[in-house]
Amino acid sequence: MIEIKHVSKWYGATQVLDDCTTQVSNGEVVVVCGPSGSGKSTLIKTVNGLEPFQKGEILVDGVSVGAPDTNLPKLRARIGMVFQSFELFPHLTVTQNLTLAQTKVLGRSQEEAAARAGALLERVGLLAHKDKFPGQLSGGQQQRVAIARALAMDPIAMLFDEPTSALDPEMVNEVLDVMVDLAREGMTMMVVTHEMGFARKVADRVVFMDAGKIVEDCDSEAFFGRLE
Ligand code: ADP
Ligand code: ADP
Repeated sequence: MIEIKHVSKWYGATQVLDDCTTQVSNGEVVVVCGPSGSGKSTLIKTVNGLEPFQKGEILVDGVSVGAPDTNLPKLRARIGMVFQSFELFPHLTVTQNLTLAQTKVLGRSQEEAAARAGALLERVGLLAHKDKFPGQLSGGQQQRVAIARALAMDPIAMLFDEPTSALDPEMVNEVLDVMVDLAREGMTMMVVTHEMGFARKVADRVVFMDAGKIVEDCDSEAFFGRLE
């Protein structure tokens, strides 16, 4: 469970998050939307400690993200994050991209990590590409590898920051389909996206941001009902 409580953040004198409070319960899918520059990306990155914040508190399964004694790398390893740009290691094969952190961070054996990688690549439809390098794959394929890499760590939650906005339109659905499956399996997810079709299909709640504030946080049926 992710609890965001009264979080505020400034870059110098500019406030980018203003008293943000929301939560993502276990198994829940929360979609964060709002205009460009409203703080969506910053908010989601505070959850795994990629963006520090000055006020408030964030708890991930009860562990405080901002506390000085928190083992941030350990926490971050358990929260899968997928960005707009694919951020795969270009010099490693697809399989190596998936096994690296499993062996280095989780201490899995090479065999164990490779088996897990194979199962996840099969799941996202890319087993046939396991020995290729990221540059040999399409954007949609690379993003599916990035999702599989995050899942290989057995995350307690997945964060997505506009995962389809850098893709050619014909590749958007192959990535969204993987995310829809994950949501339906009960993965806890916080997703920044403009894909309202996706939100409508799987979001439990929609958080709407404007100028650093959460101005709307409601049940997705209520949110979409109102748009009609
Ligand atoms: P969104 O994801 O909603 O487009 P962001 O979280 O990326 O919004 O950005 C929120 C605001 O913070 C924007 O005004 C942006 O320009 C500003 N911002 C983001 N990163 C930085 C930074 N490193 N330094 C200063 N301002 C930043
Ligand atoms: P995103 O698409 O994830 O919101 P952006 O494209 O807004 O990211 O920003 C890309 C990078 O530039 C981020 O590292 C962000 O922190 C930084 N950045 C964004 N806006 C500003 C700004 N006004 N001043 C300085 N850095 C910024």
